Amino acid sequence: MKKILITRKLIKESEDKASKTFNPIFNSNDELYSQSKVIEMSQGCDGILSSLTDKMDKETINKLPDTVKIISNFAVGFGNIDLEAAKKRGIAVTNTPEVLSDATAEIGILLILGACRRAAEGIESAREGGWKWSADYLIGKQLTGTRLGVLGMGRIGQKIARIAKSLGMIIHYHNRSKLSEDKEQGAIYHDNLKSLFSVSDVLSICCPATKETENMINKETVEYFPKGAVITNVARGDIVDDDALIDALNRRKIYAVGLDVYKNEPNLNPGYLKIKSAFILPHLGSATKDTRIAMANLAIDNIDEFFKTGNCINKVN
Ligand code: NAP
Repeated sequence: MKKILITRKLIKESEDKASKTFNPIFNSNDELYSQSKVIEMSQGCDGILSSLTDKMDKETINKLPDTVKIISNFAVGFGNIDLEAAKKRGIAVTNTPEVLSDATAEIGILLILGACRRAAEGIESAREGGWKWSADYLIGKQLTGTRLGVLGMGRIGQKIARIAKSLGMIIHYHNRSKLSEDKEQGAIYHDNLKSLFSVSDVLSICCPATKETENMINKETVEYFPKGAVITNVARGDIVDDDALIDALNRRKIYAVGLDVYKNEPNLNPGYLKIKSAFILPHLGSATKDTRIAMANLAIDNIDEFFKTGNCINKVN
């Protein structure tokens, strides 16, 4: 049986499946392993089942033992892994696409609603008590008839677009390549960021974190939006320059933000704390039991398939 280091604690059903499939090393205390600990723990292992909290950069990958042939990431995003360094060492990298798209799209919609309808302020007022209903109390932005820009119209972006359309939003999107008409479902394509942002009353960021998308929301691009736009991010914190966004919020150029992800998680840039309209969640995208089990099963199956066939459908490098 292959020996696999599983860097984070999984739901019991998933650990049972891992025990049946290979010889696993579990992290029963769910300790956050340092890079050197991952290197140490993976001695003699054939593979690693990693999570987005593991920074598998070039230096770490280069120090992994020769026995490690696969890093199976427990996430669809793989910005935490240096794919090139892994490839050079002959290590396959896999991810868990599709099984988390529904759960993540739900959070994407929650961010849009929460930011537009001032949920953060509303929750705080309800908890404090003493609030007084009036015709103009906590007036928010209605979604019906407003334009949603989707940055990254992939699996998750398309699901968000479908739900947003049913709420009466008009969908615009930008990808590097235009989708086929059946995937577009009436959404309007923009071949550049400036064009998309300038029509986005609300933006939903759904693209991966890459060198190309790093800080795509920055001092310059934030000015492309209509005044009072809302920016939401369900993808990765690295895509947003937080200081530029906080400055735009303070100037009321941007009305509100909805963030499930941010740079340097779990430490939120303190600038957001002063902004009442910031609706912020602690990276809950895929956090439902069914989805987490499906992700773990897929991460386990990816390892199994790789050792049985020498390849894997979800290999990303
Ligand atoms: P996907 O199906 O691969 O979609 C990504 C989309 O982004 C594609 O349409 C792609 O189109 C576009 N894209 C890639 N690079 C781009 C660029 N430089 N400029 C503009 N568009 C670009 O991925 P997915 O499954 O929807 O997941 C998207 C991301 O969501 C993941 O990478 C992950 O980081 C994040 N995520 C977060 C959570 C959470 O817990 N909050 C959960 C799941 C996923 P082109 O290739 O044509 O450009």
